Amino acid sequence: MIDPTAWAAFDALIARRGGDVLLLVDDLLRIVRAGPEAADLAERPEETLRGMSLIAGFGSAALDALARQAITTREVVSGEATLGHLGARRFAVDAVPLQRGLVLSLHDITALRRMERVRRDFVANIGHELRTPLTSIKLLAETLTSGAVDDPATTRDFAAQIEREADHLAQLVVELLDLTTIESGETRLSLEALDPETAVAACIERIGPVAERREVRVRRLDPPDTSARALADPARLGQALLNLAHNAVKYSHHGGEVRIGWEPVDGRVRFTVADDGIGVPVAHQQRIFERFYKVDRSRARVPEDGQLSGSAGLGLAIVRHIAEAHRGSVGVASEEGVGSTFWIEVPAA
Ligand code: ADP
Repeated sequence: MIDPTAWAAFDALIARRGGDVLLLVDDLLRIVRAGPEAADLAERPEETLRGMSLIAGFGSAALDALARQAITTREVVSGEATLGHLGARRFAVDAVPLQRGLVLSLHDITALRRMERVRRDFVANIGHELRTPLTSIKLLAETLTSGAVDDPATTRDFAAQIEREADHLAQLVVELLDLTTIESGETRLSLEALDPETAVAACIERIGPVAERREVRVRRLDPPDTSARALADPARLGQALLNLAHNAVKYSHHGGEVRIGWEPVDGRVRFTVADDGIGVPVAHQQRIFERFYKVDRSRARVPEDGQLSGSAGLGLAIVRHIAEAHRGSVGVASEEGVGSTFWIEVPAA
């Protein structure tokens, strides 16, 4: 039997450690008391849990083993266990032996572990993206310094390639820094009531020369009849539109056309960038706004001028974050081989 004073202590613990899963079990690992979080986790009312074995109540061999070890050694044992429906949650577990029985305290670390994984993936992705251009630069420079290239034209060509790869690296670093500042939420937006026509015109002006070099036409869509103002940070919105326009040109065919415009939609202003390029396969459409997500590296037209070589899968992630910072949204409608329409919506002023 558990000493009744342990019950009072247990209740005090529940009051203090709200949010944690707390259990009082006896020496035979039968549940004596369960806190509200424990009942939620087991998806059973507390009364049902009482008297059940720990393993029957929670179905976790890891939790059972930790409790058993604490009972046997009469020492505090800590570890981790995966519990919940379909093993969905990860917990840091402390098993604290009492005179009789023990208290189990489970702290949810699912979000923490997920964050750690995201961070690990992020670093791995950066490493991967940096490696390719760095390897090229090193190879080209080595070939030049080893004197293997006597021909001045080839030397120039190699030097130009090095410059392109260095530009790509620089672009990548800029995008990474942009993304992390926007993601951290530290960027303060300078919101103003912006004429959407001005934003569209600025974007067309900036993308014009790049599109021309690639023989892609850029057309401004006729403005809607109504007038509206977007509540946006002109620089950030401009950056998002330019990213979309860059992609539209990058994934267009020679002689293709990119159309940029805006329309009012339910208290918002929607900017659209449409192309008749290669399109995005349906299976990828949900994911292209994730950072580092690329459909296929070989799909972009090979850049002749280095202007568009940066392809790290960060462009659309930046667009999404800019939209979210404005409490807006992004979207795409696309058909493979036919073209794409990307949009970003921000609140109307
Ligand atoms: P990237 O730097 O690879 O272009 P983005 O985040 O800008 O990265 O885009 C992610 C992926 O979405 C790209 O790899 C490309 O396959 C696809 N994509 C983006 N814009 C377009 C578009 N206008 N047409 C076709 N595919 C596109």
